[in-house]
Amino acid sequence: MKRKRQLSILIVQQEEYERDRMISLLEKANIDIWSACDGHEALEMIQDHEPNILITDITLPKIDGLELIKQGREYCPNMKVIIAFGPYNPKALVQAVELSVDAFIKLPVDGSRLRNSVMQCARDLALARRMAEADYSLKQLLDFFPSPALLVDGMNVTYHNRPLANFLGHANHEGMGKVDVGLEDFIIKVGEEAYSGHPSAWIKTIVTDQLDRDHVVQIENPRHPDSRPNTFNVTFNQFPGSDLRLFSFQDISGLEDERAHLEDEASTDPLTKALNRRSFMRQLSQVTLAGGTFSLIMFDIDHFKSVNDTYGHDVGDAVLREISALVRDNIRENDTFARWGGEEFMVLSAKSTMKRTKRVAERLRTAIAEFSFTGVPRQITSSFGVAIHVEGETSEEMVKRVDEGLYEAKDTGRNKVVIR
Ligand code: GH3
Ligand code: MG
Ligand code: MG
Repeated sequence: MKRKRQLSILIVQQEEYERDRMISLLEKANIDIWSACDGHEALEMIQDHEPNILITDITLPKIDGLELIKQGREYCPNMKVIIAFGPYNPKALVQAVELSVDAFIKLPVDGSRLRNSVMQCARDLALARRMAEADYSLKQLLDFFPSPALLVDGMNVTYHNRPLANFLGHANHEGMGKVDVGLEDFIIKVGEEAYSGHPSAWIKTIVTDQLDRDHVVQIENPRHPDSRPNTFNVTFNQFPGSDLRLFSFQDISGLEDERAHLEDEASTDPLTKALNRRSFMRQLSQVTLAGGTFSLIMFDIDHFKSVNDTYGHDVGDAVLREISALVRDNIRENDTFARWGGEEFMVLSAKSTMKRTKRVAERLRTAIAEFSFTGVPRQITSSFGVAIHVEGETSEEMVKRVDEGLYEAKDTGRNKVVIR
C-alpha cells in the first residue's frame, strides 16, 4: 500500500494569475502543490504524482476539465476533486455533478472557501484511509483465523477468509472474485431445506431467525467432489453500530456422522438390523396421526424354540437374520420392517389396501416356507395376522387386533394368514 503522509494537490488553470493566486492561498509547509495549465499536462502529472486532490477548471485547452476528471480517476480512483469554474455553463456543471465532484468554487476563488473545501477533502481522505487500514487489518486477522469465516455487510458478502476460500478450492477471496464465485454457489442445504434462490437468501434466513439457535449449513466440498458435503455449524456476530456481521463456520461433519450412527444404533435391532420395537411404535403413532389407509402385518416363527433346541442358538440367530433379509426382498422400499420381539416381526405399509396387504403377507409366508435356511434341514414356517387401519382407532388398538389375528393363525394350524 503506497502511503503519503503529506497532502498533495494539483491545480489546473489556464490563467496564470488564478493559478498563482490559488497556490499562494494554499501554500503551507505540509502541502505539496503542483500546477498545470492544460488538461494534457495535468493528466501526465496525475500519472506521475497521484495527487490527493485535484482542483480544476472545466474549460481547459487540449483535454477539458470533465474529461480530465474521468481519465485521471482511472489512475487515482480515490482522488478528491474540486471544480473551480469561471464563466457560468449550466450544462457542464450538471455533467460535473454527475461525476460526483467533492466541491464547487466560483472563480475568482474566495480564499476561505477554497481552504475550507480543501480541509473537508483532507478530512474525508484521512477517514477513508483509516477505514481502509481498519478493513485491511480486519481481513488480515480473519485470514489467521483457523476456521472458515465470512464478512457480511448488510446482506452482501464482502470477504471470505483464507480458510473458507481454501475449503472452496480457491487461494483467497480475491481468487474467488476473479472467477466470480461466492460461498452461496456451494451451499446445498440450510437446515433441512435444500438451498436455492437469491444469493443472499441464506444470510437472510439465519440473520432474521427470531430464535437464537444454531444453524447448520451443508456445503459442497469442491476439492473432493465425490465425497459427501461437509456440515457446518454457523454462528454470527454483528459489529456494534454497523451492518457488518462476522459469520464463523465450524465443521461438524464428523459429529454429524457420529450422531447419525448413534441414531441408527438406537433405533435398530443389532441382530436383524430391523427397526426396534420402540422406534416402530413411534413411527406407527406418526402414521396413525397422519391418517389415511395403512396396514400392519405381524408374524411369528412357528415352533422356533425347537429350532434353537435342535440346531443351537447360533443357528436360530442365523434364521432370524435370513428371515429379515427375505422380508426386505419382498416388501416395498417405503414399508417399515421391525422386530417386535424375540421371533415376532411387523411390517407397516403406508397407503396400502387390504388386498395388497393380504397379498404381501401370503408372499412372505410362502417365501419363508420355501426357503432353505442355513443349518436347518427342515421347513420353517410362520403365522401371520393382517389388519388395515380403521378410522379413529389408536395404534395400540390396531396392534392388539393384528396380534389377535396372529394368535388365531397359531390356534388354527400355523403357517397361515388371518385377517382381522
Ligand atoms: P410358536 O409356534 O407357538 O410361536 O412356538 P415358538 O417355539 O416359536 O414360541 P415360543 O414363544 O415358545 O419360543 C420362542 C423362542 O424364540 C424362544 C426363544 O429362545 C427364541 N428366541 C427369541 N429371541 C431369540 C434370538 O434372538 N435368537 C435365538 N436364537 N432365539 C430366540
Ligand atoms: Mg414362535
Ligand atoms: Mg413368539
